[in-house]
Amino acid sequence: MFAKILIANRGEIACRVIHTARKLGVRSVAVYSDADAGALHVEKADEAVHIGPSPVGESYLRGDRIVAAALATGAEAIHPGYGFLSENPDFVDQVTAAGLVFIGPSAASIRAMGLKDAAKRLMEKAGVPVVPGYHGEAQEIVLLASKAREIGYPVLIKARAGGGGKGMRRVEHPDDFSEALSGARREAKAAFGDDRVLVEKYVEKPRHIEVQVFGDIFGNVVHLYERDCSAQRRHQKVIEEAPAPGMTPALRKAMTEAAVKAAKAINYSGAGTIEFIVDASQGLKADRFWFMEMNTRLQVEHPVTEMVTGTDLVEWQLRVASGEKLPKTQSEITLSGHAFEARIYAEDAAKGFLPATGTLHHLKFPDTAPEGASMRIETGVRTGDAISPFYDPMIAKVVVHGKGRQAALGALGAALSQTEIAGSTVNTAFLAALAADADFSAGDVDTGLIDRHQQALTAVPPPSSEIVAAAALAASGAEGQAPTRDPWSSLAGYAHFHAITRRTRLRYGEDDILALVSMRPDGRFQVALDAPYDSALDLRAARRLASWPGHVTVFSGAVGYSFAVPDPLAKADEIAAGADSLRAPMPGLVKLVRAAKGEAVIKGQPLLILEAMKMEHTISATHDGTIAEIATEGAQVTDGTVLVRFAEEAHS
Ligand code: ADP
Ligand code: ADP
Ligand code: MG
Repeated sequence: MFAKILIANRGEIACRVIHTARKLGVRSVAVYSDADAGALHVEKADEAVHIGPSPVGESYLRGDRIVAAALATGAEAIHPGYGFLSENPDFVDQVTAAGLVFIGPSAASIRAMGLKDAAKRLMEKAGVPVVPGYHGEAQEIVLLASKAREIGYPVLIKARAGGGGKGMRRVEHPDDFSEALSGARREAKAAFGDDRVLVEKYVEKPRHIEVQVFGDIFGNVVHLYERDCSAQRRHQKVIEEAPAPGMTPALRKAMTEAAVKAAKAINYSGAGTIEFIVDASQGLKADRFWFMEMNTRLQVEHPVTEMVTGTDLVEWQLRVASGEKLPKTQSEITLSGHAFEARIYAEDAAKGFLPATGTLHHLKFPDTAPEGASMRIETGVRTGDAISPFYDPMIAKVVVHGKGRQAALGALGAALSQTEIAGSTVNTAFLAALAADADFSAGDVDTGLIDRHQQALTAVPPPSSEIVAAAALAASGAEGQAPTRDPWSSLAGYAHFHAITRRTRLRYGEDDILALVSMRPDGRFQVALDAPYDSALDLRAARRLASWPGHVTVFSGAVGYSFAVPDPLAKADEIAAGADSLRAPMPGLVKLVRAAKGEAVIKGQPLLILEAMKMEHTISATHDGTIAEIATEGAQVTDGTVLVRFAEEAHS
């Protein structure tokens, strides 16, 4: 076993690898960009090396700097994680040329599977069923279009260098072929610098089922059963599970045998995944599956396999890369229970899954696994970390394992509902809705399910009055204050000088909400809301929420309702503008009064000074007018108290 390894990645996968390295007594070296100087993977590793500015092209994709960092720290091997350089055979050559070990397959294996068209030709030769289609070299439009007609519509155009669902177009009708082709080529050129494509039969009621394989340098190859990743959005995985729902012994046998055959055909060593597309239109049939591609690396969703097989695949990677034999033979690898993984992303599901950024002011995962299940939270961030625009916006993976599919799915829903993330828009409510979807729950999945149910899966019910009231209470700052000894004053009396009611403004989306929060002598609170909530609620304080200056998020199930709390000082002018009165923006002491009742004042003229929060705030006239009423010097006021009232005729 190695004494020290370097992890050429960031985020959750870097943390994941460090975790196993530590377990095995292997020292770990992290690499980081400018944006990641304070990142969790840097903190967790035994050592860390700065490799460049934030953009990936200047840091995490700089193979030369990564190799130099490994040499400088005395690391013997490099683990690439997934993404970045993990499937780059030139990087593997660089690593081995420097006398280091690449924790993954050989450059030759990666090259063999790197391009989808060549991989398909190779698999055809090896006797693995491949999706019917054209994967030749010639790329003339006329030829591709005629191939598409031969294959039969609908077809799928795919970038041969593709990955992450990019450069793909489904085409329903020959008339749309050339436009779809130029779209796919444009995208492929931009993402991969290679605009060559293949054309495939678009499989009906497609299910994505993949097989985890593992090889060692002695020529042994085993499989660790299948994962179902059919819950996809734009060809990207959303929730993965193992085993595949409804899997039959015949299909499993055929798929796992084909997967092992595929890996053996390229002398594969290390962790790999053979992705198959399955036609589920007639149920799962042993002759209705086809090879799509091989991912020659550890997959994002590997934890579900670890859960159902009781293995640590990163440990296997390290053992195999250091020259050991596979830890288990095929017959020793057994399936137990059911596992799900949900990928939590910073994205706005309601706005077409727009990627989001932000600071994770609040990040709380369930402390314990839901009843009867086990759970793993894989994350690379902690409270206070930023989701920057430089990298993949995945925040965490929630992984659960239960005795059966229903138990595991229930646990997934529970874990998502107990997860609290605020500071960025996240997809937890969408994931929870998917986990609760009737078809998904029945195991009736295919890659179109999310699209078909998108409306229902992304709809967020408006916040209830209770939720708004809880937000108002938190925003008012009234919580945690000793109950007042003043006699209970009714809401109607709030505007008077001795009111104990706080006036709080909130914004939810486009809606401005005014709330009046009163402390009751018994320690409870009364919150009155204006339209459209129009209600008065009696609350106890404690609720699942997160707040920081200018913001409150209230959690309800898996939904986080986020409210902006406009700065009372900035708002004071706005509140008063056009109204007859100026109110105290916060509790304080009227320190100095510079205008008198009956006096004509002009816009901008200082009227009084309020001392609050150890600072003086000048309250000035917001318009020309005559003072009808003004607070007295030395008066203690609460926020919302009327300090100045203009005479009615003053409006002009
Ligand atoms: P998986 O099946 O493991 O989800 P994906 O192809 O979706 O495989 O990619 C896995 C991870 O690698 C994702 O986080 C994705 O953002 C990242 N990734 C994929 N392709 C690239 C690429 N070309 N460059 C950088 N990161 C990539
Ligand atoms: P990538 O490298 O982007 O992951 P894949 O070839 O693995 O590309 O395809 C991504 C996804 O697109 C698959 O998981 C599947 O949902 C869908 N897909 C791919 N090929 C087909 C096909 N022939 N018919 C139907 N769906 C397909
Ligand atoms: Mg794929």
